[in-house]
Amino acid sequence: MPRKMALVDYKKCRPELCDSGSCAAVLACPHKLLRQESPFEVPMPAPSFCKGCAKCVVACPMKAIQIQLM
Ligand code: SF4
Ligand code: SF4
Repeated sequence: MPRKMALVDYKKCRPELCDSGSCAAVLACPHKLLRQESPFEVPMPAPSFCKGCAKCVVACPMKAIQIQLM
Protein backbone atom coordinates (compact mmCIF):
# COMPACT_ATOMS: atom_id res chain seq x y z
CA MET A 1 0.00 0.00 0.00
CA PRO A 2 1.47 3.40 -0.98
CA ARG A 3 2.58 5.71 1.80
CA LYS A 4 3.08 9.45 1.92
CA MET A 5 6.66 10.56 2.41
CA ALA A 6 8.54 13.83 2.40
CA LEU A 7 11.23 14.19 -0.24
CA VAL A 8 13.69 17.06 -0.52
CA ASP A 9 14.26 18.61 -3.94
CA TYR A 10 17.95 19.49 -3.70
CA LYS A 11 17.70 21.73 -6.75
CA LYS A 12 15.40 24.03 -4.77
CA CYS A 13 16.89 23.69 -1.28
CA ARG A 14 18.97 26.75 -0.34
CA PRO A 15 20.06 26.48 3.29
CA GLU A 16 22.01 29.72 2.99
CA LEU A 17 18.67 31.54 2.56
CA CYS A 18 17.24 30.03 5.73
CA ASP A 19 17.57 31.75 9.09
CA SER A 20 21.20 31.35 10.26
CA GLY A 21 21.53 28.46 7.82
CA SER A 22 19.19 26.38 9.98
CA CYS A 23 16.71 24.26 8.06
CA ALA A 24 13.20 25.36 9.00
CA ALA A 25 11.84 22.00 7.91
CA VAL A 26 14.13 20.16 10.35
CA LEU A 27 12.80 22.32 13.16
CA ALA A 28 9.20 21.73 12.07
CA CYS A 29 9.21 17.94 11.97
CA PRO A 30 7.58 16.66 15.17
CA HIS A 31 9.20 13.27 14.70
CA LYS A 32 12.72 14.60 14.01
CA LEU A 33 12.93 12.68 10.75
CA LEU A 34 14.92 15.34 8.94
CA ARG A 35 18.54 15.77 9.94
CA GLN A 36 20.89 18.64 9.25
CA GLU A 37 24.50 17.80 10.06
CA SER A 38 25.38 21.44 10.61
CA PRO A 39 24.07 24.89 9.64
CA PHE A 40 24.17 25.63 5.90
CA GLU A 41 24.07 21.91 5.05
CA VAL A 42 21.12 20.44 3.15
CA PRO A 43 18.76 18.30 5.27
CA MET A 44 18.58 14.52 4.95
CA PRO A 45 15.19 12.83 5.36
CA ALA A 46 14.54 9.43 6.91
CA PRO A 47 11.59 8.63 4.65
CA SER A 48 10.88 5.15 5.94
CA PHE A 49 9.57 6.64 9.19
CA CYS A 50 7.88 9.72 7.70
CA LYS A 51 4.23 10.21 8.69
CA GLY A 52 3.46 12.42 5.68
CA CYS A 53 2.08 15.18 7.90
CA ALA A 54 3.56 17.93 5.65
CA LYS A 55 4.66 20.21 8.48
CA CYS A 56 8.10 20.33 6.87
CA VAL A 57 6.50 21.25 3.53
CA VAL A 58 4.73 24.23 5.09
CA ALA A 59 7.86 25.35 6.96
CA CYS A 60 10.27 25.40 4.01
CA PRO A 61 10.43 28.91 2.49
CA MET A 62 11.85 27.56 -0.79
CA LYS A 63 9.09 24.97 -1.31
CA ALA A 64 11.87 22.41 -1.56
CA ILE A 65 9.97 19.59 0.13
CA GLN A 66 7.11 17.67 -1.38
CA ILE A 67 4.98 14.85 -0.12
CA GLN A 68 5.02 11.96 -2.54
CA LEU A 69 3.32 8.60 -2.63
CA MET A 70 5.91 5.83 -2.51
S1 SF4 B 1 13.93 24.96 5.04
FE1 SF4 B 1 13.83 24.27 2.91
S2 SF4 B 1 15.33 25.54 1.80
FE2 SF4 B 1 15.80 25.71 3.99
S3 SF4 B 1 17.37 24.12 4.32
FE3 SF4 B 1 15.37 23.24 4.82
S4 SF4 B 1 14.67 22.19 2.94
FE4 SF4 B 1 16.34 23.60 2.39
S1 SF4 C 1 6.05 15.00 6.49
FE1 SF4 C 1 5.87 15.25 8.73
S2 SF4 C 1 6.83 13.41 9.57
FE2 SF4 C 1 7.49 13.54 7.44
S3 SF4 C 1 9.47 14.62 7.51
FE3 SF4 C 1 7.84 16.15 7.14
S4 SF4 C 1 7.28 16.94 9.17
FE4 SF4 C 1 8.42 15.00 9.45
